[in-house]
Amino acid sequence: MQELTHYLNGAHVKGTSGRFADVMNPATGEVQAKCPLASKAEVEQAVAIAAAAQPAWAAVNPQRRARVMMKFVDLLNRDMDKLAEALSREHGKTLPDAAGDVQRGLEVVEYCIGAPQLLKGDYTDSAGPGIDMYSMRQALGVTAGITPFNFPAMIPMWMFAPAIACGNAFILKPSERDPSVPLMLAELMEEAGLPKGILQVVNGDKEAVDALLHDEIVQSIGFVGSTAIAEYIYGTGCANGKRVQCFGGAKNHMIIMPDADLDQAADALIGAGYGAAGERCMAISVAVPVGDETADRLIEKLVPRIEKLKVGPYTAGADVDYGPVVTAAAKANIERLVQTGIDQGAKLVVDGRNFNLQGYEDGFFVGPHLFDHVTKDMDIYKHEIFGPVLSTVRAQSYEEALGLAMDHEYGNGTAIFTRDGDAARDFANRVNVGMIGVNVPIPVPLAYHTFGGWKKSMFGDLNQHGPDAFKFYTRTKTITSRWPSGIKEGGEFNFKPME
Ligand code: NAD
Repeated sequence: MQELTHYLNGAHVKGTSGRFADVMNPATGEVQAKCPLASKAEVEQAVAIAAAAQPAWAAVNPQRRARVMMKFVDLLNRDMDKLAEALSREHGKTLPDAAGDVQRGLEVVEYCIGAPQLLKGDYTDSAGPGIDMYSMRQALGVTAGITPFNFPAMIPMWMFAPAIACGNAFILKPSERDPSVPLMLAELMEEAGLPKGILQVVNGDKEAVDALLHDEIVQSIGFVGSTAIAEYIYGTGCANGKRVQCFGGAKNHMIIMPDADLDQAADALIGAGYGAAGERCMAISVAVPVGDETADRLIEKLVPRIEKLKVGPYTAGADVDYGPVVTAAAKANIERLVQTGIDQGAKLVVDGRNFNLQGYEDGFFVGPHLFDHVTKDMDIYKHEIFGPVLSTVRAQSYEEALGLAMDHEYGNGTAIFTRDGDAARDFANRVNVGMIGVNVPIPVPLAYHTFGGWKKSMFGDLNQHGPDAFKFYTRTKTITSRWPSGIKEGGEFNFKPME
């Protein structure tokens, strides 16, 4: 049994708490490694190392910090296959999807190569007589991030790349379900030239998270995961005076207008609903066809596509569309919610229950499900299922469809499929959701824009990556300067505007 480590001060370090979590192989249901769960003392050790290393890193000029990012991009490309394989082995997603996970993180690293430009301040010459005013962005110090299981490469990179490019030290507390890739990323950052102690990985659970939340040295906390934990971390982190951004769960609606290209919409729903077994915060989990005729035609197109989906282990290569879900508990939760859908009167059009894969009977595979006639009061509509289950809610008008997305407590992403520019424009303007797709089912913004939901999908004000990340990981300092030649009239006692 492999015993995984923490990564502290440039070295793999065994856990000392005596507590471990099982890292599963979701395809076989076997335990494949033990992940150490850090104690408060281990977290404090990491924080002390980070605090000692950070000032020297902040003093390195931004161009040199950017060169570490350049080299890191090369190393990610060099090790892409290795990273994807390690990711699939612990997460269960297919290899191309795992490579996409690394790639979407890599693109944010590329953006961070622009740190010298992004960190430039503002300057006002002669703001008053002999007075210049300028502002600069300075690193926060020791920063930390807590990441979910579903993107074990991408989301850590979304946090640590900008944090480190800005001159901070970063402590990553990845998901205990798939911690190997985060450890590999920390090694690669050092191979790229990052000084020891600037990126550390502390594996753990609530105990480690609480230690970070209550540590006075830690200046900021980034979190991505489920909404209940996001709310807890946001509340506790803010109460402790930290800068906090927390990204939570989702229930993403796709509105299908009567004029939409239904083949295109059906294809989009298959990828967005069932890709990665539905374990994406930007997955489409609710299809909202407008009008019964649209709904009937859409279902007709969806069913054969869903029945053709190939579910299996990543090792089966191109023969697989999606893999197992991450744990037995995740599988049980999906099955429980599916049962509530049936009990509460939704129509199960494609029944993925009792899916069985020969040779992988103990794996956490879930067959694809499609529900029709789902209503607002049902549990399968209200809750995030995070599995290969697509719910269809029939709307009788565009306004009703828009209202569904507006009234839902989550507001991460949404999409509209239509040929009508006015409808698309109206939808994008009015809907209270953070990321909108127009004939694009998973509208994940690229690295140089920002990523973030609204409502219960996000707590905080600044989004992930893009320019917001450089704001989140720095503080603004504004300097008003006057040289002695400008002070000729004695003391100033009144607070007054610049002349
Ligand atoms: P999770 O909330 O169970 O875990 C996320 C992190 O929090 C992990 O590192 C975990 O160790 C830690 N954690 C778990 N319980 C904790 C507790 N009681 N106190 C403190 N920390 C705790 O989420 P998950 O199952 O790993 O990920 C899936 C969820 O993440 C879904 O809800 C999904 O929508 C969401 N997600 C959101 C986004 C986004 O950008 N909005 C992106 C990806 C995933």
